[in-house]
Amino acid sequence: MRHSVKRIAGAPGTGKDIRVSFEFFPPKNPQMEATLTDTINRLSPLSPEFVSVTYGAGGSTKDTSRKTLQTVLATGNTPAAAHITCVGATRDEIDAVVRDFAALGIRRFVALRGDPSGGVGTRYQPHPDGYQNAAHLVAGLKAFGDFDISVAAYPERHPESADLATDLDMLKRKVDNGATRAITQFFFDNDAYERYVERVRRAGIYIPIVPGIVPIHNFSAVRNFASKCGTGIPAWLADRFDGLDQDPHTHSLVAAAVAAEQVFDLVDRGVDDFHFYTMNRPDLVFAICRLIGIRETGEAARRELHAA
Ligand code: FAD
Repeated sequence: MRHSVKRIAGAPGTGKDIRVSFEFFPPKNPQMEATLTDTINRLSPLSPEFVSVTYGAGGSTKDTSRKTLQTVLATGNTPAAAHITCVGATRDEIDAVVRDFAALGIRRFVALRGDPSGGVGTRYQPHPDGYQNAAHLVAGLKAFGDFDISVAAYPERHPESADLATDLDMLKRKVDNGATRAITQFFFDNDAYERYVERVRRAGIYIPIVPGIVPIHNFSAVRNFASKCGTGIPAWLADRFDGLDQDPHTHSLVAAAVAAEQVFDLVDRGVDDFHFYTMNRPDLVFAICRLIGIRETGEAARRELHAA
């Protein structure tokens, strides 16, 4: 579904179309499950292109990911994408999960290597009977059926990668094997993203490189996670959240403004697809979507229109 955005700061002309997708992770307990269901019900009316559900390394969330995919499918109108990782699993195990998810009605996958159980930074060893890496997994998925396959991309380089050229080589292999969209690791430096996309294009890769946007619910936690996955925290960003740890209201207002500003700037640079890491919380993403002109469809919106 394309959304028309009439007001983009500094954008030439009007009527820019923006598409969004949302990422959720499978809940770990009944309380988180209830929160997630609320989040899905709140965000689905924004008509995302698709909603994706993460998958734990080694199949650790196989059942809960499946259940979350079913919750998304139950909304009736939101395409669901299943993340699949290949670390710590045999090909047969992965193929069985893909077959099962496909039987649920899943036609979109996000194919990932995943990190070893020791976490980011632990040395990755492919399973002897498994897919070797994400490119190999993409080829395996394509052998199953004509799925829509997204993969990961790293504007600031994957932390294990020797250099950006190695990353681009891997991205090229994923595309050659059938991936049609890359979703980036979260970043805050739009210049780094733009430079990366230029290098991707020079490497002969023409699929969309969709920015992964993380709304900052907790700056300290995001900074901590960023240091593990190689995402830079610009000084201006740290400065904006400085001293707000005990002031959640202002923190939240600043977070919405920062994310909207990042999205507006990317739109000005020609980007019109965005993937939001929702962290299973609706409010910031909902507010940001409002700011970029995306409105809910269906009954609620119709009621508002009639009242106007
Ligand atoms: P690949 O594409 O196989 O490799 C990525 C890069 O790492 C390569 O470009 C290469 O430069 C380098 N590299 C890979 N292997 C080696 C090696 N052996 N030696 C040196 N360099 C190497 N993780 C999950 O567990 N579940 C998820 O659902 C999930 N979803 C994600 C969604 C997105 C959009 C992103 C960006 C990441 C996600 N991750 C997820 C994290 C991901 O699994 C890790 O970033 C992982 O380390 C790499 O996965 P990949 O698919 O990018 O790997």
